[in-house]
Amino acid sequence: MNVLYRSTRGAEENVPASLAVLKGLASDGGLFVPQSIPKLNESIEELSKMSYQDVAYTVMSKFLSDYTEEELRYCINNAYDSKFDTKEIAPLHKTKNAYFLELFHGKTIAFKDMALSILPYLMTTAAKKNNLKEEIVILTATSGDTGKAAMAGFADVPGTRIIVFYPKNGVSAVQERQMITQKGENTCVVAITGNFDDAQTGVKKMFQDKKLAEDLKKAGFQFSSANSINIGRLVPQVVYYVYSYCQLVKKGEIKAGDKINFVVPTGNFGNILAAYYAKLMGLPVNKLICASNKNNVLYDFFITGTYDKNRDFYLTSSPSMDILVSSNLERLIFKIAGEDAKTTAELMESLSKNGKYTVSNDQKALLADFASGFSTEEECAEAIRKTYEEDKYVLDTHTAVAASVYEKYVKDTGDKTPTVIASTASPYKFARSVLHAIDEKYDSHTDMEQFDDLREVSGVEIPKAIEEIRSAEIRHTTVCETDKMQAVVREKLGL
Ligand SMILES: *Cc1c(COP(=O)(O)O)cnc(C)c1O
Repeated sequence: MNVLYRSTRGAEENVPASLAVLKGLASDGGLFVPQSIPKLNESIEELSKMSYQDVAYTVMSKFLSDYTEEELRYCINNAYDSKFDTKEIAPLHKTKNAYFLELFHGKTIAFKDMALSILPYLMTTAAKKNNLKEEIVILTATSGDTGKAAMAGFADVPGTRIIVFYPKNGVSAVQERQMITQKGENTCVVAITGNFDDAQTGVKKMFQDKKLAEDLKKAGFQFSSANSINIGRLVPQVVYYVYSYCQLVKKGEIKAGDKINFVVPTGNFGNILAAYYAKLMGLPVNKLICASNKNNVLYDFFITGTYDKNRDFYLTSSPSMDILVSSNLERLIFKIAGEDAKTTAELMESLSKNGKYTVSNDQKALLADFASGFSTEEECAEAIRKTYEEDKYVLDTHTAVAASVYEKYVKDTGDKTPTVIASTASPYKFARSVLHAIDEKYDSHTDMEQFDDLREVSGVEIPKAIEEIRSAEIRHTTVCETDKMQAVVREKLGL
């Protein structure tokens, strides 16, 4: 089946997958969605015998139907290789109450690696297919995880360059060190004196700047986006939901056809949307449980049908979920609006004008696939402590939010469906908060000492990503004012 893409806001239709990957965002500001969701026609028995790479091919080839088998296998084989520290790529860890799907075995020890390991290959293959002459310049604003994972993915990939902006005082110590030690001749990291919103706004402005686009083209460059709204990030994430289900069958934990729940710690709504797509493909899923931290705008939306970003913004110990506008939710809105682009465009217009919108009762009824919850900082810490004490398993702060929401969900509903919790980061990435939750005696230790503490506590070896930053040389030292971002880009590209 040939799957084509269209914008959730209606301006573009019949766009081949490879072009949607190259463009990232549709020209009307909408998101590309498949015109129909392909079905999993292989049996679970068949899929259960497959390696991660073969499940990836089976799932992704259905969505990316204009890539040839050779092209897609090339992308998959280069992405899911020894960069991951386990052959399973995404292993399951069983505890008393749930299965944790560990998505942090890639280069930067957060789940962003699952998609950003393959996106550079999908993109350069798409450029070749579409006879793109220009070199691709990835421009990204990051609050920590995305920028590093994107650079790790694009480092030394021929035909690409990547420039990342991050807020000088807005990322964790580990995150900053990971970024400024980034290797690769085509990578560039710049700290800005503003906050994350300033970085994001500066990048968006550059994408829309016509003069800049002209100058880029003359010099042989074209911008593209590695942001999670790119379908080249969404599709690879569908894979591990299918894979984890099959692993449960293979291990005899469930029978083929049994339903399971997925709990997903959510920020931009990309990861959980991939789980929803897996369900729409035919994977036997009961509930998709959307877990938020104190920034609980999504929880309120699922309960009331009103999305309202007019509220205080909190910095929490799960920073990758500190977000008030979840971009990928637009794809779900499009779905519950009966795939009507006009309605979707109106709701999004209302969001940008008034900071809020409300869906109709009929539309809200279509959200029944989802459950939702949120947890406070105390509840998150409690989940880390409890899972450590009861299961000798150490969760990172984001995964702990999900575990805490799941516990409350079970209490409220009595639902006994086997449940997989998406584990989105290694505890090493947020060592300080994790150790603080376990015992305050660690608070006085330095960042470097805490890595050794965590090894002792968790029994998990220090990942390569952490060992590297302990010794790596600092390669990037540019700091700029927010209004100088374009000047920096021009300088770096020699415009
Ligand atoms: C990005 C991120 C999330 C949120 O994922 P979304 O796809 O944006 O919902 C959760 N946890 C970690 C560790 C992340 O890096």
